[in-house]
Amino acid sequence: MRTLRNFIDGTWTDSRGDVLLDLVDPATEEVLARHPGGSAEDVDAAVAAAVAAHPAWAATPVGERVARIFTWADAIAAHADELVELECREMGKPLGIGRTFLDGAVAGLRAAADEALSYDFEELIEHPDGSRTRILRHPLGATAVITPWNFPVTAVLAAIGPLLAAGNTVVLKPSERAPLSVVRLLELAEFPPGVVNLVLGDARAGTPLAEHEQIRLVHFTGSVATGRRVGAAAGEQLRRAVLELGGKDPVVVDAGVDPVATAQAVAFGAFVNTGQICTSMERIYVHRDVAEPFVEALVAAAESFPVGNGLDEGVVLGPLVDRRQREIVVRHVEDAVQKGAKVRTGGIVPAGKGFYYPPTVLTDVDDSMLVLTEETFGPVAPVVVVDSFEEGLERASQSKYGLAATVYTDNSDHIDAAARIPAGVTWVNQWQGGGPERLYEPAGDSGMGATGARAAYDAATRPSSVHIAAA
Ligand code: NAD
Repeated sequence: MRTLRNFIDGTWTDSRGDVLLDLVDPATEEVLARHPGGSAEDVDAAVAAAVAAHPAWAATPVGERVARIFTWADAIAAHADELVELECREMGKPLGIGRTFLDGAVAGLRAAADEALSYDFEELIEHPDGSRTRILRHPLGATAVITPWNFPVTAVLAAIGPLLAAGNTVVLKPSERAPLSVVRLLELAEFPPGVVNLVLGDARAGTPLAEHEQIRLVHFTGSVATGRRVGAAAGEQLRRAVLELGGKDPVVVDAGVDPVATAQAVAFGAFVNTGQICTSMERIYVHRDVAEPFVEALVAAAESFPVGNGLDEGVVLGPLVDRRQREIVVRHVEDAVQKGAKVRTGGIVPAGKGFYYPPTVLTDVDDSMLVLTEETFGPVAPVVVVDSFEEGLERASQSKYGLAATVYTDNSDHIDAAARIPAGVTWVNQWQGGGPERLYEPAGDSGMGATGARAAYDAATRPSSVHIAAA
């Protein structure tokens, strides 16, 4: 049985911790590998390597840093099938959908690195009185990237490009629930020793990394609860934290839309990756005029998805990542049913191996239920019928989360009104998209720190000004 190792200062090394965890295939419940539970000693060694590597990496011309990232992107693209298979084995994502997201992530890494070539790391402002101000943007130093399991490779690639291209070094800690593909990702990287380090483990590694006094920025993607701890540690250390956290994304379906086509789009947004996307559609507000055919089509779409082991051809929905995640989904649905919700399809844990849960549609739901208030992170679509678009918009806006939102409407006033939902990104008549130029900061509890295009470079650097008096 393979035991995964850390990658520190350019060398694969055994963890110094004494706990080994089993990595379980969620489709078969077989143990795939053993991996370290993590330790503060591992973190100390990785941070020391990142700190030591920083001066030389920061002094490397930006064009060379970007070229190395491109070389890595090429290697990832050349091994895409292998990486997608590893993701499928460790967390259940079917191959087809995994490939689509991985291709997007590689394109995103390239676009983000490319941005460095036009970013103003140095600007000169000439004032009318003959004085000049130089504005310099310095890399921060050693940084930490902590990622979740739902998109193991994508989450790393989304965070790491601007940090590295701006001249920072990185200690990466992937989720203990999906470390296999990220280990392979690092095997494909050819940076100078210490520039990218990998520390495996759960909170035993995450906590000392987030709290480490020599880390100058933590880029964290994960749950709100852990994000609060990471943010608190950043406050204690007076350093930057970028927090990309959970959501409870609403969808507003207006009167006048094609209920069947919209329901099919919503089914995809609610169920793909078995509902385990931070921007999964988790609250659906549908106008009464189209509610009946919409729910009927949503149920039909839910029942049409091939569910199974993601390695099998044609499968669209795999299992949930593990038993723990399925227990959360079961608890949310049971809570809703106890409080009067109707299960229109799904809602029953299937017998047999694997952490499967069927696509589930609930109606007669209200805000007393967990399915409308807490992130479920599973294939559950709760539908609320509203009497007007305005009511849908208002209810969509009533959440402690504010990651993303989607509106389906053919009314141009309503398209304009969609921007009123407090969210980092609002999609109209589509779900996902917007490209690398998309700039946003999550609202509410969904995170902190702007993301996208140049904002990532602003976050990855510290500006200073040098003012030179007129001669
Ligand atoms: P999680 O918060 O449990 O874990 C995330 C990471 O933090 C893991 O690597 C974990 O080991 C580590 N960690 C655990 N305790 C820690 C601590 N005390 N200090 C530092 N690190 C610690 O989240 P998860 O279950 O892995 O991921 C699912 C969550 O991620 C969902 O809420 C989802 O919405 C969110 N997510 C957000 C985005 C986004 O872009 N906003 C993207 C993907 C996932």
